[in-house]
Amino acid sequence: MAFESLSDKLQNVFKKLRGKGRLSEADVKAALKEVKMALLEADVGFKVVKQFIKSVEERAIGQDVLNGLNPGQMVIKIVNEEMVSLMGSETTEIKLNPGNAITVIMMAGLQGAGKTTTTAKLAGKFKAKGKRPLLVACDVYRPAAVKQLQVNGEKQGVPVFSMGEKHKPVNIAKAAIEHAEKNGNNVVILDTAGRLHIDEDMMAELQEIKENVHVDQTILVVDAMTGQDAVNAASMFNDKIGIDGVIVTKLDGDTRGGAALSIRAVTGKPILYVGMGEKLSDLEQFYPDRMASRILG
Ligand code: GDP
Repeated sequence: MAFESLSDKLQNVFKKLRGKGRLSEADVKAALKEVKMALLEADVGFKVVKQFIKSVEERAIGQDVLNGLNPGQMVIKIVNEEMVSLMGSETTEIKLNPGNAITVIMMAGLQGAGKTTTTAKLAGKFKAKGKRPLLVACDVYRPAAVKQLQVNGEKQGVPVFSMGEKHKPVNIAKAAIEHAEKNGNNVVILDTAGRLHIDEDMMAELQEIKENVHVDQTILVVDAMTGQDAVNAASMFNDKIGIDGVIVTKLDGDTRGGAALSIRAVTGKPILYVGMGEKLSDLEQFYPDRMASRILG
C-alpha cells in the first residue's frame, strides 16, 4: 500500500498523543519531533519539513489548543490541515479549451518515469470527458517508444500520430496539430523524449517545441519511488521550461511519500494526477485532503 511506512510511524505518534488527557508544551514538542523524523525518513525535503513543523507548532502551542477539551485530537487535526495545505489544498484540473478549440499538452519527464504510459492514461480520461484526443509520438530516439505509444493508443481507442524517427520533434508537433485540425481532434498530447538525466539537449528540444508551437499545458511526469530526485527534477524542469503541473507515477509502490508531499511546496506547481499501477485505467485525480487522510489514517 502507498505510504505505509510513513503512515505507520505517524499513527504511532498520534496514538501517544490521544492517550494523554492533558498535554504540555513539552509533550507537543516531543510529538512534533517524532513527526519531523518520520517525514525526513519518508524523504520529504529538509526545508519543507522544517517549515511544516514550524507551522504546526505555531498553531498547536499558540492558541488555546492545550487548554481545550481534547488537546491530542486538536494537534492531530492541525497536522492534518497543514498537510493538506502543503499539498496545495485544492484539486487542480487540467484546463482544456472549450468546445472544438484545440488544447495542446506537452508531456515531459525523465526516461522510465512513466511518461508514455501516463500519456495514454490521460488520453483515456479526456476521451471519457467527451473530448477527441490525438496522441503524438515525438520521442524520436527510441523506436520502441513510438511503438509503445501506438499499442497503448490502440488499447485506449485513441489515434496516434507518428512520423517515424527521421523528423525533428518540433516539426512532428506542428504536423500533428494540422492533422488534428483536419480530423476534428481537440486535445493534442505530445509524448516527448526522456533521457536518463536532465541534460541541455533535452531541455533545448522542449524549449524549441514551446517556442514554435502554442503549448497550452506542459505537464511533467515524475516517478514517486525516486523521492527527492523527483522533486529536484520538477524544480529543474520548472526553472528551464516552465511547467503547469506534475503527474506523480508509481505511487502504488511508494511506501514513503516524500515526492508527493514536497512537490507543491518546492515548485509551487500542483500535482494533477497520480499513477496507481501499470494498467491504463490506473490514473487517479489528486485530492490533497484524501492523500493526507491516507497518510494520517
Ligand atoms: P517513459 O520512459 O517515461 O515513457 O516510461 P514508460 O511509460 O515506458 O514506463 C516505465 C515503466 O513504468 C513501465 O513498465 C510502466 O508500466 C511503469 N509504470 C508507469 N506508471 C506506473 C504506475 O503508476 N505504477 C506502476 N506500478 N508502474 C508504472
